[in-house]
This record gives sequence, structure tokens and C-alpha cells, in this order.
Amino acid sequence: MIAAVVTKDKKVSVEEKQLRPLKHGEALVQTEFCGVCHTDLHVKNADFGDVTGIVLGHEGIGKVIEVAEGVTSLKVGDRVSIAWMYESCGHCEYCTTGRETLCRDVKNAGYTVDGAMAEQVIVSADYAVKVPANLDPAAASSVTCAGVTTYKAVKVSNIRPGQWIGIFGIGGLGNLAVQYAKHVYGANVVAFDINDEKLAFAKEVGADAIVNLLNEDPIAKAKELTNGKGLDATVVTAVAKTPFNQAIDVVKAGARVVAVGLPVDKMDLDIPRLVLDGIQVIGTLVGTRQDLQEAFQFAAEGKVVPKVTLRKIEEINEIMEEMEQGKITGRMVIDFTK
Ligand code: NAD
Ligand code: ZN
Ligand code: ZN
Repeated sequence: MIAAVVTKDKKVSVEEKQLRPLKHGEALVQTEFCGVCHTDLHVKNADFGDVTGIVLGHEGIGKVIEVAEGVTSLKVGDRVSIAWMYESCGHCEYCTTGRETLCRDVKNAGYTVDGAMAEQVIVSADYAVKVPANLDPAAASSVTCAGVTTYKAVKVSNIRPGQWIGIFGIGGLGNLAVQYAKHVYGANVVAFDINDEKLAFAKEVGADAIVNLLNEDPIAKAKELTNGKGLDATVVTAVAKTPFNQAIDVVKAGARVVAVGLPVDKMDLDIPRLVLDGIQVIGTLVGTRQDLQEAFQFAAEGKVVPKVTLRKIEEINEIMEEMEQGKITGRMVIDFTK
């Protein structure tokens, strides 16, 4: 089978790869679609360590074609996700308290185990979440990482209906953050980016206000929108340090700033601002299987509509370049159905 493999020189090689036999509790999935997440770009560039030889891909959707011994949760023909949260230990303090993505023995698809940017992929059956029948599988691929991550981030922000939330970075993740915040949580949304095309797209998918950080003052805009108080929460999906700092500057006292983007950098935290204004800064990592089920359900109901462009696996290095240059609006999705 053909797979997109990370190479030593930080490129992706589309090559023939043989899968090992299935082990107890595993299933074999024929991939239909796999989105290209900015995390794939970080992984390929060895931002979190060298993983030469690994098959990329954690926004995968496909159909089960074989199940091994011990599999009770899936059967042949089921459509499932292949997500970053590939498998966790199931018995540690994180796994038993609804925080399985933080498990210290977690396996991550397309990073520590072979992922879904391949014609076939092995999954740990109990961790492959079923896709609702009425959800388009290409759209479902975007929910598998971008969707569940931003759904969870908005959940963690504690935003209430009618309050103002700011989303920084309107890429593959950010546009879905706008949609979950607006159409699921009933929030007012202000979108921040440095690219007018992304901001126009944010408006299209429901943002009430937009701010181009290159030529508008985010603090003045936040005050203007909230009678001088500041935003009730922010979610940062941008891949740069500056927006992390701006996301703190624009919130009101007691607000939550939710960190999602992964620039390899440090953010500045003004200690008096943090302490005197009781600001909470919280990191959040993808979502649990239950979060993914919920995120899928809202997409199946049409409340959240991922924008996907279908591409061929042979174009993967081009897609990576387009992403690096900030040229992608929505998500590029590798189509394995043809
Ligand atoms: P993307 O490339 O599709 O989007 C990034 C967006 O950030 C673009 O719209 C770009 O214009 C914007 N941006 C860049 N510089 C900016 C700046 N200075 N100010 C404001 N906006 C700016 O990427 P994506 O797939 O949406 O992923 C975003 C980040 O989230 C990546 O770092 C990725 O690794 C990370 N991520 C985290 C999780 C998690 O669980 N925490 C999950 C998935 C992805
Ligand atoms: Zn991702
Ligand atoms: Zn665990």
C-alpha cells in the first residue's frame, strides 16, 4: 500500500509500505480521506523531535475491512476515525478521570505510531470513534482533529451564550472554532488573523466581527465590542508567539485564555496582569473519544460545516509548502477513494 512517510531531510516520501499483521484488539481500516493538519507540518519539520520513517496523518476517516481477535466495539464495514489520540493506557490517573489525551503512555497517530495518510491503517479498535451515517466522510476528516480540538477548546473556555469570545488564527482549526463557538455555544465571535482572506472566510462561517492584526489594534476593538470591558474568553490557534500575548491583552478580568496552537516558542505573561486580574491561561490537547463523538454530532446536524478541498497523496509536499506560506483556507484533504 502507498503511504506518506516522514524522511530524514524533513520532506514527505510517498512510498510503498507493508503493514504488520494485526494484534489482539486491533482493526484494519481502508482509508477514505485524511486531512492535512498544521501539526503534520510540525511533525515533518521535527519540531517535537525526529520521527523519520513514521507515516503521517491523524485526520483520517475510513472503513473497517478486518478485525482481529478480541474486538467487540467494531465490525467490518463500520466507518471510523483515526485521530491523534490513537490509544491510551486506560488505567492511569488521566485515563480514569476523563483526561485520556494527557495519558503519559498515550500513542499518537502520525507521530508515535503510523497514521492515516496511507491507503490502509491499523487502529486500536476501542479508540476508533464511529462516524455518524449522515456526516460526509471528507468533512468528518476535518472534525477528527481540527473539529474536536476546537470544540474542546471552546468548551474549556467556559464561554456562555451571548458572551464575546475571540478566536486567534483562522486556519483549519480556527474557522471551526468560530463555528463551534457561534453555532453550538451561542457566543458572539470576533476573529483575529493577519490574512484578509482568512478573515473574510471567518465572516462567512459566522464571525460577528473581524480584526486584521497587521493594521488594527486588537485591544481597542475588544473594548469597542464589549462596552470597554474586554472579551469574556479567547482561544489561540495561531502558529506565532505575538497572538498568544495579544489573546491575554484583549480579555476582561477573570477570563480564560485557551492555548491550542503550537509555535515552538514562549509566551510572555505579565505577572501583575495575571494575578491582579485573575486571568487563567489553559492549554488543551485535542479531545477525548467522547468529545469527538459530540463534535461529530454537531457536524452531522449541520451546525458546523468544514470547508475541504480534495487533493491527491502525490501532492503532499506541495500542500505542506502552501500551509507554510499561509495559503490554505479551510483544509486540504487527501482523497484515497480514487
Ligand atoms: P493553519 O496553518 O491552517 O492555520 C494557522 C492560522 O494562523 C492561519 O490562518 C494564519 O494566517 C494564522 N496566523 C499565523 N500567524 C499569525 C499571527 N501572527 N497572528 C494571527 N494569526 C496568525 O494551522 P491549523 O491546522 O489550524 O493548526 C494551528 C495550530 O494548532 C498548529 O500549531 C497546530 O500544530 C496546532 N494544533 C494543536 C492541537 C491541540 O490539540 N492543541 C490540535 C491540532 C493542531
Ligand atoms: Zn491535528
Ligand atoms: Zn493512561
